[in-house]
Amino acid sequence: MLRLEDGLCSALDRDTWLCSIYENRPWVCREFEMGSYECEVERAESLTVSPGR
Ligand code: SF4
Repeated sequence: MLRLEDGLCSALDRDTWLCSIYENRPWVCREFEMGSYECEVERAESLTVSPGR
């Protein structure tokens, strides 16, 4: 998915932090296991990224 200037997916609703196209999200999003090791790494990295990345 396209990442915007803040480094987040363009389909991510910045107010709710929910996927705005959840029912039609891409295959890779469907395969990405929530709470997996990879998920935890991505979350940790996103928390260390300063705004306006
Ligand atoms: S589930 Fe996929 S499409 Fe939806 S916000 Fe996350 S990365 Fe973007």
